[in-house]
Amino acid sequence: MAPIRNITILGGGTSGWMAAAVLVRAFKPGLCTVRLIESEDIGIVGVGEATLPQVRDFNTFLGLDEPEFMRATNATFKLGIEFRGWGMSGSYHHPFGVHGQSAGGIPFHQLWLRARTFMDPGPIEDYSFPIRLARESRFDFPIEDPKSIRSTYAYAYHFDAVLYARYLRQWCEARGVQRIEGKVTGVNQNPETGFVETLTLENGETVGGDLFIDCSGFRAVIAGQTLNSGWEDWTPWLPCDRALAVPTERTEDLTPYTRATAREAGWTWRIPLQHRTGNGYVFSSRFTTEDRAREVLLGALDARAQAEPRLLRFQAGRRTASWTKNVIALGLASGFLEPLESTSIYLSQIALTFLMRLMPDARFDPALADEFNRLIDIEYERVRDFLILHYHANTGSSGPLWDYVRSMDVPDSLKAKMEMFRHRGHVPHYKDGLFSPASWIAVFMGQDVTPQAYDRQADALSQEALTRYLKDLKRKIDTNLAVLPSHADFVAGHCFDPKAAEAAHV
Ligand SMILES: Cc1cc2nc3c(=O)[nH]c(=O)nc-3n(C[C@H](O)[C@H](O)[C@H](O)COP(=O)(O)OP(=O)(O)OC[C@H]3O[C@@H](n4cnc5c(N)ncnc54)[C@H](O)[C@@H]3O)c2cc1C
Repeated sequence: MAPIRNITILGGGTSGWMAAAVLVRAFKPGLCTVRLIESEDIGIVGVGEATLPQVRDFNTFLGLDEPEFMRATNATFKLGIEFRGWGMSGSYHHPFGVHGQSAGGIPFHQLWLRARTFMDPGPIEDYSFPIRLARESRFDFPIEDPKSIRSTYAYAYHFDAVLYARYLRQWCEARGVQRIEGKVTGVNQNPETGFVETLTLENGETVGGDLFIDCSGFRAVIAGQTLNSGWEDWTPWLPCDRALAVPTERTEDLTPYTRATAREAGWTWRIPLQHRTGNGYVFSSRFTTEDRAREVLLGALDARAQAEPRLLRFQAGRRTASWTKNVIALGLASGFLEPLESTSIYLSQIALTFLMRLMPDARFDPALADEFNRLIDIEYERVRDFLILHYHANTGSSGPLWDYVRSMDVPDSLKAKMEMFRHRGHVPHYKDGLFSPASWIAVFMGQDVTPQAYDRQADALSQEALTRYLKDLKRKIDTNLAVLPSHADFVAGHCFDPKAAEAAHV
C-alpha cells in the first residue's frame, strides 16, 4: 500500500519542531515531505524550560552537539528537583538518580529503613550522590563504571524555550523541512471519511497532507476545534489551572536543579539558565485570585524581574484519543499535566517514538491508532498519579487548597501504590511509562509516606556490616564530591556563551 508522502505539522513550538526534527531525521531524504505551519502573530507558549534525562536520547537521535546546543539555548544542567514546603522536613530532592547504592541486590532505602531500627543513620538524602551534588551546586558528567558512586545519576537540562524552538527550527530547515508562515483559518475534511485533506491559511492558500500533526498548543486547532476529539478532565485531582511566569536576572549561584516551592494556592518554580532565571507560580483560581497570585510570585523572587508577569490558563487533562483519523495531537494540543515534574516535553518525545514505531501507510489501519492511543494513555496516567501523589501526600503546607488535596479521593491506581509503600516500602516496577522506583521512593520518603516495616531481605547484613556500609558510603560520597567543580564553572568551561554572560552581567 502507498506510503505516506506528505506530513504537515501545525505549530512551531517545542512540540512542532521536535516532531519535524524526528521525521526529517528518520525518513530518507526525498521519501517524505515535511512541512510546518506556524504563526508569528500567535507565537508559542514560551515556557517549558526544565526537562528530564530522556531529552538526551532525543538529542542523541538527532546527533546534536551538546556544547553547541547548550550555547544556543543558554542551557544549564539539571540533576533533579528540590521540593520546598511539600514535606515536614522543609525541603527534599527528587534526584535523577538513586539514594545510596544497593547492596547485594537489596534496595538502599530498605537498608536505611532497617538501620533506623537500631541506630540514627541521619537523613536518607545524605546517602544520595546526586542530591549531595545538587545541594553543593556542583556538576560533572556521570561515569559508566557501575561500581562507582558517580554512576548513580543521570542529568537533563534547563533551557530557554524560545531559543530551543529557534535552534530546532534552524536544524530542521537545514535538512529540508519547509516552514510556512501563516495563520490556519480552516480545516477541510473529506465529506465521507472525515479525514483532513487540507488546511486553509488566512491568505487563502491551502496546504495538503496525508498525515497531520496538530502541535497548535492549547488551541488544538485540528484535534480539538475540528475533530472534537474528547477531553478527559483531571481538574478534580489537579486543581491548578493558571500560571504566572516572569524572568529574573541571573543570580550568582547557578543551582543545577529546578526548585518547586509549595505556596498558599499552588507552587512556584525556579529554573536557572545561563542568562536569566525562569520563575512562575502555578495556582488554582478556585483558591486564590490572579492579583494575589501576582503578589505571591513577585514576593518570592530572589532577583530583579525583567518583565511583567505573564498569565497562562490551562486545564489538567488529556485528549481521550490523541490519534484520530489522520491527525495526531502532540504537545499541549494532546493534553496538559502541570509542570511540577517537568514531564510535558518528555510526553511529546515519547509520543514521537510511538509514532515512528507505528507509522501508518495511506490506509491508516485503525489498529495502529488504537495501539498509539493505548500507549499514550499509559504515559499520561502514570504521570498523573505521580503528580497527584505530591499534592495528596503534602505534609508541609497549609491552607484551603492543601486541605482539599489531602482529603480528596485519589485514583485507585495511586491508592494501591501508596498502600504498598506504607506496608514495607515496596514500589511499583513497570515497563511502560515514566518514573522509576527511585523516583517514587524519593517522593514517598520526602513527603513522609513512611513504611511501617522494611523488606526482610535487608536483614541479610549484620548490624555491624550495615553500620560499616553506611559509613563507607558517606565517605565515598564526600571524597568524590570534593574534587568536582561548581556547576557555574562547569557550564562556563563546557558551553559558555559570552552573549549570555553579557546579558546577565556576570
Ligand atoms: C506554565 C507552564 C510551564 C511549563 N513548564 C514546563 C517544563 O518545565 N517542562 C516541560 O517539559 N514542559 C513544561 N510546560 C509544557 C511546555 O511548555 C510544552 O509542552 C511545550 O512548550 C510544547 O508546547 P507546544 O509546542 O505544544 O505549544 P506552543 O508552544 O503553544 O506552540 C503552538 C504553536 O502553534 C501555532 N499555532 C496555533 N494556532 C495556530 C493557527 N491557527 N495557525 C498557525 N499556527 C498556529 C503557534 O503559533 C505556535 O507556533 C509548561 C507549560 C506551562 C503552561
